[in-house]
Amino acid sequence: MHYFAGIDIGSTAIKIAIVDENKKLAGHKISASGSMFYKYAKQALKELLNELGIDEKDLVYTVATGYGRKLFKEADENISEITANAMGAMAAAEGKCDIKTIINIGGQDSKAISLDDQGNVVNFAMNDRCAAGTGKFLDVVAMNLEIEVDELGEYHFRSKGTPLSINSTCAVFAESEIIGLLGNNNSVEDIVAGVHYSIAKRIIKLVKRVGIKEGIYFDGGPALNSGLVSAIENELGKEIFIPEFPQITTSLGAAILAHESYGYENK
Ligand code: ADP
Repeated sequence: MHYFAGIDIGSTAIKIAIVDENKKLAGHKISASGSMFYKYAKQALKELLNELGIDEKDLVYTVATGYGRKLFKEADENISEITANAMGAMAAAEGKCDIKTIINIGGQDSKAISLDDQGNVVNFAMNDRCAAGTGKFLDVVAMNLEIEVDELGEYHFRSKGTPLSINSTCAVFAESEIIGLLGNNNSVEDIVAGVHYSIAKRIIKLVKRVGIKEGIYFDGGPALNSGLVSAIENELGKEIFIPEFPQITTSLGAAILAHESYGYENK
C-alpha cells in the first residue's frame, strides 16, 4: 500500500495527515510547532509513520503547507494554505455538508474562504495583523483566567444572562479589560462568553468581506471550542458544520493533493 502525507506547519501547531491509495485518512498527528518547527515536523512525521506501522518507503509523496512550508525541504511540493484548506474541507464535509464558505481560525491568523459549486476558491479574506480573533487571543484569555483553552467551551455554557461585552479591539487592551472585569467581580464564565461573542463579531466581519453563503464550515484549533462555535452560530443566525478533526483540515487537503500530484490513478 502507498501513502501520501500532508504537513501543515502552522504558527502554533504542526498537523500531519496521511491518506492511503483511496484518499482515506489513515492517521493524523498534531504537535506543537515551537521555534524549531522544521526539526519538529520531521520528527513528528517519523513518529506518526511508526505509530501507524507504515514503512518510510511506502510514503511516496509529501506536500507541505502552512506558514513554515518552504522550510520543509523534504516535501515533494508545497502549496498555499488557502488551496489546501479548501481541498481538505471539501473532503472532510463530503456527503455531510455542501460547503460554500470556510471560516478558519488558527493560532495567529483568521481567514474566510468562499467556494464555488465545484469547491474552487473564488475569494478569500485574511486577518494576520492582529491577534484579536485568533487562537493566540484565546490562549492569552485562558491564561489570564487560569483555565485551559480546552475548558473555554464548558465555561461559556455555564455563563448566565447576557454575555459581557468586551469592547477593546486590540488583544493587548482586551487583556487589561479582562483583568478589570475580574477586578469588578464578574465571573470567569461571563467573561469567557463575552470573549467568544467579541471574537464571533470580528470573524463575521471578515466573512462578510467574501460574502456569507450557506454551507459554512469552521476549522482550525479554535473550532474545538464549542462555546465559540455557539457564539458564531448565534451571531450569524445560521448553523455551521464542524468536521470530526477540525485542526487537521489543511493538512488533509495537502495529503489529498499529494495523492493527486503523484497521479496514483495513472500508475
Ligand atoms: P495554526 O495552524 O496557526 O498553528 P491551529 O489551527 O493549530 O493554528 O490552532 C491553534 C489554536 O487552537 C490554539 O492557539 C488554541 O487557542 C486552539 N486550540 C487548540 N486545541 C484546542 C482545544 N482542545 N480546545 C480549544 N481550543 C483549542
